[in-house]
Amino acid sequence: MNAYWDQKACEVPPACVIQPRNVWELAQAVKILRREFDLRSERAKKSDESVGPILAVRGGGHSPVAGASSIKGGVLIDLSLFNEVIPAEDGKSVAIGAGCKWMHVSKPLEEKGLAVAGGRNSAVGVGGLTLGGGLSFFSPRYGFVCSNIIEYEIVLADGSITTASATINSELWRALKGGSNNFGIVTRLTARSFPSTSIWSGFLYLPPWQSSKVLSAFHSFVNRSITSTPGQTHDEHAAGPLACFTYLQQLGIQAVAINLVHTAPPANDKRWPGCWRTSAFSKLWRFWSTCDVKSLTSAMDEMSVLNPPGRRQEFATTTVKNDKVTLEAVHNVYRDAIATIKQHRIKNMSWTLVLQPLLPEWARKGDANPLGLDSGGDEPLVIVSFTVNWARSEDDELVQGITRTAIEKIDAFAERKGMGHRYRYLNYCAGWQKPFEGYGDENLQFLREVSKEVDPEGMFQKGCVGGFKLGL
Ligand SMILES: Cc1cc2nc3c(=O)[nH]c(=O)nc-3n(C[C@H](O)[C@H](O)[C@H](O)COP(=O)(O)OP(=O)(O)OC[C@H]3O[C@@H](n4cnc5c(N)ncnc54)[C@H](O)[C@@H]3O)c2cc1C
Repeated sequence: MNAYWDQKACEVPPACVIQPRNVWELAQAVKILRREFDLRSERAKKSDESVGPILAVRGGGHSPVAGASSIKGGVLIDLSLFNEVIPAEDGKSVAIGAGCKWMHVSKPLEEKGLAVAGGRNSAVGVGGLTLGGGLSFFSPRYGFVCSNIIEYEIVLADGSITTASATINSELWRALKGGSNNFGIVTRLTARSFPSTSIWSGFLYLPPWQSSKVLSAFHSFVNRSITSTPGQTHDEHAAGPLACFTYLQQLGIQAVAINLVHTAPPANDKRWPGCWRTSAFSKLWRFWSTCDVKSLTSAMDEMSVLNPPGRRQEFATTTVKNDKVTLEAVHNVYRDAIATIKQHRIKNMSWTLVLQPLLPEWARKGDANPLGLDSGGDEPLVIVSFTVNWARSEDDELVQGITRTAIEKIDAFAERKGMGHRYRYLNYCAGWQKPFEGYGDENLQFLREVSKEVDPEGMFQKGCVGGFKLGL
C-alpha cells in the first residue's frame, strides 16, 4: 500500500491485491473478475442500478489522482512483477514489462549504449506514462513516448491475451497511444531504441525576482523551436525546457528552477551546448546550477529526488498558445494563489507552476496517435501544470479547490484572448478534468469504437475504476 507516490492513494484500501507473475496468471484473474462483473451487471439491470467498480490496475503507482490506480474494497491488480527489460539483438527495440519504472529501463539500456523515448523521472511507471501519451527528453526528436511503441501485449476484458501492432489489431494499437486503461491491461510494451550516450542536463535555480525574465526566455526559446520559421534553426537534441515557479509555505519563500537538457553531450564538457548558450536562459542570473554532462539515469534520478513520495499530491493542467501576455497572466494566477495559501496557513504546502513546450510537430513524429495534436497548424503550445503537495488530509479539499480555481482562471483568460487550446495532457489532469474531450470529436469517437469492439460489455468503462473514462 505504500507503493504509491501520492499519500492519498495509500489511504484507499483494496479488499485484496493480486500480483500476477505472468500474463497467464493475469488472464486467469481477469476471467474471474469478468464473471463477477457479468453477475453484477445482471443484478444491476434488474434493480436499475449502476454496476459498481470491482478492480483497479496499478503500474508504477505515480498517478496523482487517488483512486486512479487504487480501489476501496475492490481488487487491485498490481503489475510490479512484470518487470523484464529485454533489448533486441539488433539494438533497435526493447521489450519492457508494464510494471517497470523508467529507472529499470534506462539502466540496462545505458550499458548497451542505447535509450528509448521514455519518462524523465526514474521513479515513474512505464505503464501509466506511456498509455497516457508520454513526454520525454527525446520528444523533439522522436515525438511522444506512445508514438514509439511498436507492439503491446494486452489482456482484454474476456481474459484473452492479444498483441496490438501496426499489422495486428492496428486500431487497438493506435487507441493505446493515449487511450489509458480503457481497453484492457497492458503487460508488455515493445519500444523503439536508438544509440545514446551521456546527456547534458540539469537545473538552474533562480530567485523569484527573475520570474519575468524567465518567462521571456521561455517564450522566445519556444518560438525559436518552430522549424518552419524561415531563417531559424532548431536543435532537436534540445529537450523542451521546464520552467518551474515554486512557493514553499513552510519557509515563506519563492524560487524558480529551470530544467535544461541536451540529449547529445557537447564536445567540450565545460561549455553549454550551442542551443542553450545562445538562448536567453544562459544570461539569467542564478544562484546555483547543476547543468553538466551526466548519464541519462542520473538526469532522471535528479528529477526523482526533487519529487519524493510520501506527501499528499495534486496535479491539474491546461494548454495555452505560446503567447507572452498569456504566459504572464498564467504566472499572475500562480502568484495570486500564494496570498490565499498564506491566508489559510496550509501546513507544509508546496505550490508549483510548471511551464513546458508542446509542439504539434512532436505529435506527428513516430506512429500516429489519437491525441488530436497532429492536425492544425504548427503554432507552439505550452502545457501549463500545477504540481502541489501538502501534509494534512484536512487540507485536501482546500488545496484541490485552490488548484482548480487557478486552472479555471487561466482557461477563462486564454479563452477571452483566443490563446487557449482544447488539449489537456491526460497524465497531468486532476480527477475533475476530461482529457478525452480535448482529443477532438473524431478521435474520441474512434476510441469509443475500439472500446466497443474489444470490450462490448464495458468492463474497463464501468468495472475498472480510476483513470479517465471514455464516457460510453
Ligand atoms: C514525479 C512525477 C514525474 C513525472 N514525470 C513525467 C514525465 O517526465 N513525462 C510524462 O509524460 N509524465 C510524467 N509524469 C506523469 C506520469 O506520466 C503519470 O503520473 C502516470 O500516470 C504515471 O504512471 P504510473 O504507471 O506510474 O502510474 P499508475 O498510478 O500506476 O497508473 C496511472 C494510470 O494508468 C493505468 N495503468 C498503468 N499501467 C497500466 C497497464 N499496464 N495497463 C492498463 N492500465 C494501466 C492505471 O490504471 C492508472 O489509471 C510524472 C508524474 C510524477 C508524479
